[in-house]
Amino acid sequence: LDMKNPVVITRELAAASMPKRPTFGHKGTFGHAIVFGGSKPFVGAPIYSGHTAFHCGVGLSTLVIPEEIYPVIASQNQTALIQTLPSEDGHFTGEGIEATLFEKVTAVVIGPGMGRFHKGPEFVMDIMEHLDGQPVVIDADALFHMKNQLEFLTHYDGSVILTPHPGEMAMLTGKSVPEVEADRMGIAENFAKTHDVNLVLKGHRSIVATPNGTWINPIGNDALAKGGSGDILTGMIAAFLAQGALPEDAMRAGVYLHAASGENAAIECSHYGVTPEIIISSSKKVLRQME
Ligand code: AMP
Ligand code: MG
Repeated sequence: LDMKNPVVITRELAAASMPKRPTFGHKGTFGHAIVFGGSKPFVGAPIYSGHTAFHCGVGLSTLVIPEEIYPVIASQNQTALIQTLPSEDGHFTGEGIEATLFEKVTAVVIGPGMGRFHKGPEFVMDIMEHLDGQPVVIDADALFHMKNQLEFLTHYDGSVILTPHPGEMAMLTGKSVPEVEADRMGIAENFAKTHDVNLVLKGHRSIVATPNGTWINPIGNDALAKGGSGDILTGMIAAFLAQGALPEDAMRAGVYLHAASGENAAIECSHYGVTPEIIISSSKKVLRQME
């Protein structure tokens, strides 16, 4: 593939990337997305990811969160199932994975709002070692925890999708943010090939890269530049993976849906006034054009 000629993600390509929905499907047919995340400073992030997954068609979503934030998560969340793990100072301790119910899980998200804590790297690896090769989306501070464990991700027995913003990409590659921004395409493509992982390099004009191909998303705007926005993208990608989409399809459909939802939201609410809730609710109309 010619690096200077990535394929553009059109609405048609995004629509063709959506998982099919059998008419007689039941909630078991449409998958189960599980989200490991949340911490005392970041309670909203896992809720946004899990709720977005629901908006994008999963049969079930489960939030696995630190025990101490259970009351606030439970009071905010109405769609996802909740499991708790031991916590300290508002973060996971890293213990207790063996108690997690992974039954019928079809996609796994690690990171939204997880924050940084001492046993982070061991915790993320422990989760992945308990899986059966389900696709895993690594986002936010799970990227930080895994920055020195890329080899582990390369050898995971299933698909791995990383969703870094430019700052997280800089951390993963040891480059500066301006260096990443100066060669978004080349850096994303090279990283996906080198580490045999799938990648969304977020920011204006997100890049989708797999070891076999690179795509560019031509839409999206600054209305998306707000805390919570990335958690929504992660929920979209996880939902499509959970319903059986291949990583490159799930990433293309998710990135396009997210960007188009931001554009639609801005038409109604201005570029200033878009909130995560509005991005999620704006996704309905876009989904209607993609199904
Ligand atoms: P995060 O930084 O993890 O919250 O993710 C932010 C999300 O919003 C990513 O999907 C970005 O691609 C998107 N985003 C942020 N700023 C812009 C922008 N100026 N234009 C288009 N998309 C953006
Ligand atoms: Mg983020």
